[in-house]
Amino acid sequence: MYSSKLRSVVRHADKKLPATRSFYLHALRLRQHTSPLTQFTDDELMTKEMVAKLAKQEIAPLARKMEKEGKIDDGVFRKLFENGLMGIEIPTEYGGTGSSFMSTILAIEEIAKVDAAVSVPLDIQNTLVNSLILKIGTEEQKRRYLPRLALNAVGSFCLTESGSGSDAFSLKTTAKKKGAEYVINGTKMWISNSDVAQIFVIFANADPAAGRRGITTFIVDRDTPGLTVNKPEDKMGIKASGTCTVNFDNVKIPEENLLGKFGHGYKYAAGFLNEGRVGIGAQMIGIAQGCLDATIPYTLERKQFGQDIFSFQSLQHQIAQAVTELECARLLVYNAARLVEAKRDIVKEASMAKLFASETACRITAKCIDFMGGVGFTTDFPQEKYYRDAKIGTIYEGTSNMQLSTIAKCIRNQYS
Ligand SMILES: Cc1cc2nc3c(=O)[nH]c(=O)nc-3n(C[C@H](O)[C@H](O)[C@H](O)COP(=O)(O)OP(=O)(O)OC[C@H]3O[C@@H](n4cnc5c(N)ncnc54)[C@H](O)[C@@H]3O)c2cc1C
Repeated sequence: MYSSKLRSVVRHADKKLPATRSFYLHALRLRQHTSPLTQFTDDELMTKEMVAKLAKQEIAPLARKMEKEGKIDDGVFRKLFENGLMGIEIPTEYGGTGSSFMSTILAIEEIAKVDAAVSVPLDIQNTLVNSLILKIGTEEQKRRYLPRLALNAVGSFCLTESGSGSDAFSLKTTAKKKGAEYVINGTKMWISNSDVAQIFVIFANADPAAGRRGITTFIVDRDTPGLTVNKPEDKMGIKASGTCTVNFDNVKIPEENLLGKFGHGYKYAAGFLNEGRVGIGAQMIGIAQGCLDATIPYTLERKQFGQDIFSFQSLQHQIAQAVTELECARLLVYNAARLVEAKRDIVKEASMAKLFASETACRITAKCIDFMGGVGFTTDFPQEKYYRDAKIGTIYEGTSNMQLSTIAKCIRNQYS
């Protein structure tokens, strides 16, 4: 945008004023100098380093305990809030950190390197709940909810139901207008963070006759009568992250809690989940990197046939392949993040990043168990946890099949 303006200035610059023309040409050249995707601003670097330290010192030592208890430690949540990580992009005037989307991505990646379960609330809060309220909320909603989300309240994003997963917009939860209130009835399933969440962003159909065009978004406080949360599911991985069924039984909320425009819920869910998918991509590259970091040193130390096992070419090649695939995934994720910041269309890029990063994390964590041999199959070592934690990446926020369908749709449009 800026470059095209500059180009036009250069084109129309008075030929008799070569100094002016050369000044603008220089500015244009500077502007066109692009940066590597792995280059960060000072602010982003500071976030990355701060989160890496926090993850190593405060989260890693508790990871196994939290997994066993099926619950994220209260102290860990406190640290996330205290360090501004639950409101990374919330402007400072609403109590947030006022940082960038890339900072969110780097924070998710760093936390997932030590415990993917803890990266779940960080991801959902920043890429979905905060983002929705910040971008489509009224000023009153922003003032009421963003400071809480930045400082002490966990949020949940409630879209899925037992009968509507991949086919998300066939949801059955209803919101009936009664006077100045909406009455919500229905049951949401698989809702992350709902064990501890205080604020629920929920999608309900306020005009079922209009089909998906009746789907509307609402904000519901946890203490609203009629809202109940069941006990967390016993999952294969990310066990400390609470995933529960949330019931809405005649839940009455004021009409001011309608978020965005009536009937636009399906557009918001589809649009914001694109950003969410970049977050899941970041979680997956964090898992894969954490697993490799725990594995490669072992291959350099473990001796068989009189030499370290890294020296066997077959192992070296597999490790080189894994590291290369991870770098591809990372570049897809970072590129999608930069596209978000540039306010560009990211439908295809977000799906590709999420698909490739999650499939890669599953492959790499499985390989790491092989590289470790027998000990990799025990809970004394972290590889088996990384392997179990990676699996969710191919399922939530759209399964791998659904990402492939989205990518294929974009390809068809491109060639039609
Ligand atoms: C741990 C966890 C946390 C979650 N957190 C949240 C949350 O916070 N908020 C929320 O709203 N939801 C959440 N979800 C729900 C999640 O997004 C859904 O589970 C996911 O979208 C898949 O839906 P489903 O489970 O109903 O599977 P289904 O849709 O039943 O899919 C089953 C299989 O069929 C395939 N399939 C379905 N339709 C097609 C098609 N058209 N073409 C090809 N293949 C197809 C799928 O790819 C999959 O392999 C979470 C789920 C889990 C497991």
